[in-house]
Parts: sequence; structure tokens; C-alpha cells
Amino acid sequence: MDPEMEDLVQLRGRTASAAIMGGTFDPIHYGHLVAAEAARVKFQLDKVFFVPNRQPPHKKDYQVTAAKHRYQMTVLATITNPHFYVSRIELDRPAPSYTIDTLRSVKELLGSKTQVFFISGADAILDILTWKDVDEVMEMCYFIAATRPGYRLEELGRRLGYLLKKYSHKVFCVEVPALAISSTDIRERVTQNRPIKYLLPESVENYIYKYELYKRAGSTLKTHVAQELKGNEVKD
Ligand code: NAP
Repeated sequence: MDPEMEDLVQLRGRTASAAIMGGTFDPIHYGHLVAAEAARVKFQLDKVFFVPNRQPPHKKDYQVTAAKHRYQMTVLATITNPHFYVSRIELDRPAPSYTIDTLRSVKELLGSKTQVFFISGADAILDILTWKDVDEVMEMCYFIAATRPGYRLEELGRRLGYLLKKYSHKVFCVEVPALAISSTDIRERVTQNRPIKYLLPESVENYIYKYELYKRAGSTLKTHVAQELKGNEVKD
């Protein structure tokens, strides 16, 4: 069994609540961490399991960084929070990573007394109608949609359509100002040799540089260091 999932089994049989924080985490950043912590406090969650996906159904495998790196960055980022855990449940399963399969495994491990929440970005949840076995997904958990500042909630209502009417008691939103940070922006910044400091934990920043993630083909650590030493060439 996934060692982190053994922690989940401890919740079995008692009224507890656990959340799955689903995402690609390419890379994980403070927006994700603040969103998970805000949800944990608001909904009194006992544990939050970060579940990096192997390959989201709507993305091709070459579009995401190797699972090994995304997993390790997620572990580094969550290590200081005693309520946060990282699960390999989707990484150890063949792609594509369907949320319904994860929920079925988690529910089986936990038993019926534990409430399960699924936290993700509101934009990811917008497309839920296209997800595999969406009605069963909605039956199995409560949803927490983390929104960026200025997010138009009516868009979520419009796109969720009949689901929101049927399951309105199961969908919640948490506004997370730190979600102004985005993984896409961080990847672009690294590619362009722009700073990423304070957007994500320092350990993850160091990891990105050590393994030369998000660099343009042909760009190496040496060129990054050369740019840093030149100083005035580093924009932003
Ligand atoms: P995505 O399309 O990469 O992200 C869409 C938006 O949501 C981005 O703005 C993203 O910001 C944000 N986001 C993603 N995960 C987040 C999180 N945990 N907390 C806060 N914001 C988040 O989304 P994805 O990562 O591929 O999918 C999100 C989750 O939905 C995953 O668990 C995935 O497996 C699941 N999903 C399931 C199905 C299915 O079962 N058929 C289909 C699609 C997605 P950042 O880029 O900054 O993270």
C-alpha cells in the first residue's frame, strides 16, 4: 500500500474528514499550499492528501514534467505542515488519471464514516461535466473550488449546469488571493531566466534549478548562472 495512504486508514471508522488536493503541480507553489491550508481550516479537515496526477485526461503525457519531479517537489513543499501528506496513488496507476478511480480507492480505504473532500482549482472543476462518471464523482465527495481573486463565480454556476442544481450542497468555493500565482507563469519565468523567488517554497525553487526543469532546450545551468552573475540581464 502507498505508505501515505496508511495514514488514511487511521481515519477509518471514526467520523473524520480528509481531503484530496488534486492537481498536476508542475510545479507546486504557494497558491496551492495556501488554498489547501485555507480549506483545511475552513472545513476542519483532519488531513489533506496532495495527489499529483500521472497524466491528466485532458493533457498529453509530453505536456507535463516527469512524475518523479512533480512528486518530489510536492513532498518538499508540504513537509513543514503536519496536516499535509503526499500520495502516489495516481502516479502508481497507469495513465490517464481519472479522479473517479482515486475516489473509489480512497473511499474503500476510509470506510463510510469519513467525509471526503476534493480540492482543486475552480478552473479545473469548471470542466467537471466532461469527467469520467461525473455523477458518481459528485456522490462520493464534497468539492472545494479554490478561486483566484476576481474570479466570476457565476461562470462556475453556468458551466456546472444541472450538477450545481442537484449537488449545490456539495460544492464550495474558497477565494485564495495567493492563487494569483500560477504554475504556467512560474514555468515561463524559469524559461526566460526571470526570478521565481517567493512564489514557491525555496526548497522547490532550488529543486527546479538543480534539475534544470522548465529550461529551453539547449539552455543549461551554466547559462542560468551566467545570466544571474551578469545581474542586469535578469529581467523583472
Ligand atoms: P489544470 O487544467 O492544470 O488547471 C486548471 C486551473 O486550476 C489552473 O489555473 C491551475 O493552476 C488550477 N489548479 C489546478 N490544480 C489546483 C489545485 N490543486 N489548487 C488550486 N488550483 C489548482 O488542472 P489539472 O491539474 O490537470 O487537474 C486538476 C485536478 O482535476 C487533478 O486532480 C486532475 O486529475 C483532475 N481532473 C480529473 C479529470 C477526470 O477525472 N476526467 C479531468 C480533468 C482533471 P496551476 O496551473 O497554478 O495549478
